[in-house]
Amino acid sequence: MESEDVEDLICDLTDAALEHLEGVGDVSRAVSMALDEYEKDITGNREEVRKQVAQRVDERLPDQFEYEIVHHPNQGIGIAVQTGCPQCGHEDIFNGSLTHSPAQFVGMTVDRGELQDIEGADIGDGTTLCFIDDADVSLDFVTCGLCGAELETA
Ligand SMILES: [Zn+2]
Repeated sequence: MESEDVEDLICDLTDAALEHLEGVGDVSRAVSMALDEYEKDITGNREEVRKQVAQRVDERLPDQFEYEIVHHPNQGIGIAVQTGCPQCGHEDIFNGSLTHSPAQFVGMTVDRGELQDIEGADIGDGTTLCFIDDADVSLDFVTCGLCGAELETA
């Protein structure tokens, strides 16, 4: 095989592996899936190709998880994810816990139909609905929603 062909193949395999990674969240599995897909095109040493593709995939992944805590009047508190999970690149779903300290709750007028009643409390017309208006928020613990990597620990 010509060296440009090898380079093209490695690029195609890397793209394919990155695509699989979004679904499986595991680099070595994603690389294996890409190699299986391009099985007939790989004429050289399969292990060498695997190593090179895995390295390229790794280079494309973020070095560390970077985020900022943001507030939205309707969506509430969220995170602006600058770089996704360093293990799998995922940037859409995260699991974690956060602390409000201190939080100020202020009475607000909201559509009661949209209210999600967490504790099953009885919310009548005379109930005042107070929501967190301003607070210092810190994330105590965050894991990747796809591969489960621990991204932030207190
Ligand atoms: Zn992940």
